[in-house]
Amino acid sequence: MLEDKNQEKTSLSELGEFGLIKHLTKHFSSYHKTTIKSVGDDAAVIDSSEKQTIVTTDLLIEGVHFDLSYMPLKHLGYKAVMVNLSDVYAMNAEAEQITVSIAISNRFPLEALEELYAGIQLACNTYNVDLIGGDTTSSTKGMLLSITAIGKANKEDVIYRSGAKPTDLVVVSGDLGGAYLGLQVLEREKQVFQVNPENQPDLDNYTYIIERQLKPEARKDIPELLKELDVKPTSMIDISDGLSSEIMHICTQSKTGCKLYEEKLPLDPQVISTCEEFEIDATMVALSGGEDYELLFTISIDDYDKIKGNPNLSVIGHITEENQGMNLVTRANQEIELKAQGWNSFKG
Ligand SMILES: [Mg+2]
Repeated sequence: MLEDKNQEKTSLSELGEFGLIKHLTKHFSSYHKTTIKSVGDDAAVIDSSEKQTIVTTDLLIEGVHFDLSYMPLKHLGYKAVMVNLSDVYAMNAEAEQITVSIAISNRFPLEALEELYAGIQLACNTYNVDLIGGDTTSSTKGMLLSITAIGKANKEDVIYRSGAKPTDLVVVSGDLGGAYLGLQVLEREKQVFQVNPENQPDLDNYTYIIERQLKPEARKDIPELLKELDVKPTSMIDISDGLSSEIMHICTQSKTGCKLYEEKLPLDPQVISTCEEFEIDATMVALSGGEDYELLFTISIDDYDKIKGNPNLSVIGHITEENQGMNLVTRANQEIELKAQGWNSFKG
């Protein structure tokens, strides 16, 4: 429904692989002096200096991870970079370089790839990262997109999932559940469109949650904010699969339990109203929705005063001894065991 039917189409075979990469990357600039050699040789060269190198990679497959009928290619490029940068920031590191590899079927013309790379470039410019290499190749069906991000951090600054201690506070940035609900709205509109292509969707009431799905922002600002506040988290992770499974990763790796409070979960008003419309539980969406790309971390209780009242941060619970388990305290003051998969398993 978002596809532009009037776009020009240039076959990729007109450029050849080398020409294609050169064409797609010609407007990218370099931000980091650690980038010694970018695209254009057999391999890129990075100056590793005395810092530690953080590497993360993600593979996205059309039909599994994204649907091009409502995901514009520019947004896909942007989001694919965000997904990776989010993991670098979750290590408390600075992202400096990315590589981008794509496999595409012959149904995509050059202009489609230009759109994709426009999104990648916007992400690089906004987050100051250098595109230093990658590969393009053909696929028999659909599009595959793999991005690797490389970051740097001082050894003492890297934050792992394993450092949480009993009594630490559990903190999350931003709000939860929006990306999942945005996806539900887009899926619904896609079905309406398939039945009646004349029907133009009215998405005014869903702008925030759709943006959370189509154009998420990695929280580069949060590690910077914490540094300013002189708070070093004891553990950290980004929320790609949903709050519930991410806090379970922290607890499992830290050998602790946790207690989260339903009433403390940060929800945007649009998340609440859309949940009412879809008749789904907002807490379930916050716990299991995923793709929010917020940062979830633990801090010493001694640091509470430093973050108290900050509009970017919500304290949603605390870490407990391992034998106390991982639990959610509901508004009705009931304790429910957290599950990695969905709220339904609680209710059932
Ligand atoms: Mg992650």
